[in-house]
Amino acid sequence: MLGRKERDQLELLITGSLRQLIPDDHVLVRVDRVLDLSWLRDEVADLYCLDDGRPGIDPEVAVRLMLAGLLNGIVHDRKLIREAHVNIAIRWFVGYGVHEQLPDHSSLTRIRQRWGADRFRKIFKRTVEACLHARIATGEIVHVDASLIRANVSWESLVERHVVEVLDENNVEVEKQNRQSSKSKKVCVTDPDATMATNARNRHLEPCYKQHAAVDDKAGVILDVEVTTGEKNEGEMLTPQVDEVKATTGVDIKTVTADAGYAYAKVYGALERRSIDALIPAKAEPIRSRVPMHRFRYDAKHDILKCPRGRVLRATRPVKHGRFFYSKAKDCACCPIRGDCLSKGRANKAVVVGDDYPALLRARRRRDRWSDQDRRLYQRHRWRSEGFHGEAKSWHGLGRAIRRGIANMRIQAYLTAAAINLKRLAAALFAPTARWLAPFTQSRSLHRRPTPTSGAACTNLQSHKEDPRTHFFNDPTFL
Ligand code: SF4
Repeated sequence: MLGRKERDQLELLITGSLRQLIPDDHVLVRVDRVLDLSWLRDEVADLYCLDDGRPGIDPEVAVRLMLAGLLNGIVHDRKLIREAHVNIAIRWFVGYGVHEQLPDHSSLTRIRQRWGADRFRKIFKRTVEACLHARIATGEIVHVDASLIRANVSWESLVERHVVEVLDENNVEVEKQNRQSSKSKKVCVTDPDATMATNARNRHLEPCYKQHAAVDDKAGVILDVEVTTGEKNEGEMLTPQVDEVKATTGVDIKTVTADAGYAYAKVYGALERRSIDALIPAKAEPIRSRVPMHRFRYDAKHDILKCPRGRVLRATRPVKHGRFFYSKAKDCACCPIRGDCLSKGRANKAVVVGDDYPALLRARRRRDRWSDQDRRLYQRHRWRSEGFHGEAKSWHGLGRAIRRGIANMRIQAYLTAAAINLKRLAAALFAPTARWLAPFTQSRSLHRRPTPTSGAACTNLQSHKEDPRTHFFNDPTFL
């Protein structure tokens, strides 16, 4: 028989809690089981007056609102609050009953401004520590990668920077080459922190920020995230990021993987000095001369360079990040290939060798000897590291900056990384197949959630008496 549903007899009152209306496999229910923000009130207490003024929003509520938005792919505050008014899962997650008035969207902006990016970084760091504590991250194998994030500016807001005219006006002397490169630079007047950058040579430049991320190999936990302006070279960020990861985990990193964008001598040298195996595919030397650099053999033992004819070039003048090596003019005078080897007008050969050039040579030789295990690990780099950037952009709104300024961009990146770490943690702790589940079924420390502010939103893992291992199976989007 064809059924009919009466739609005008909706209940006004319900018994029980909001939690009973939310499916167990809802992402907010999963994350709630592993989210502990009980430390946050003390952390931000110094930013508020203790005995005067209108009571502010509970810090935990503010962070839960922001996380709920990112976990549901809602990045704009207005849209988030509009959604929270009708979404019982968000209301329950932040601890508000169905009749309670939610905070105004502008309060979230004020909180971000008041707390600053560093407080949000601490929230992210806490999620990393929770993952380390749960042993779903070890910090021994780290995948590093960077990704551009489109700044929140329009094409109309881009202007050309008239540096040359300004410098001339102020009688400032600048090298000719620098003048030419800066002459055509575009800047965003609405967000000066963003700079023009592109992913590939055949794509046009866009105003961007750059997110640098270090991802753990074991379960894809994000160990560190930093945001810079778009034109920042990723090679400059790897070493400080590796040091930051080690400081966070307290574990010596064994291997770092990165793509060819990090294949610089100084990167290999820095990783060698830290006794870290660099799984970074070294680029072949660009051929710009008939007698290219790779035909000059560096002898590290005697600190000399030998040219293709076997003549010795000795180090003399130091330059930034390296030294000049010169041959003797009398050696080159009767050389049959001097026409191809020497620059026009020179009587001897001058070569600049970077400080970490030996490390680059070793990395090139190492690249030729990559084992099957190395190749497999480098494949994992693709889906661990690049997978994180794709997930953050596709599911959590990091494809484009929501607000302007690098501080706001950092907050967005930290919260997105924190949300993804919490997903990883929930999936790992409650997945029935997880190898690391056993030690944690006894632990209550990660299952804590604050006392709900609403009587309707009253649940936690223990009180609900549900089997947490039931609902996380066969969910490829979750881990
Ligand atoms: S020109 Fe001088 S440096 Fe170059 S190959 Fe001949 S001897 Fe060596």
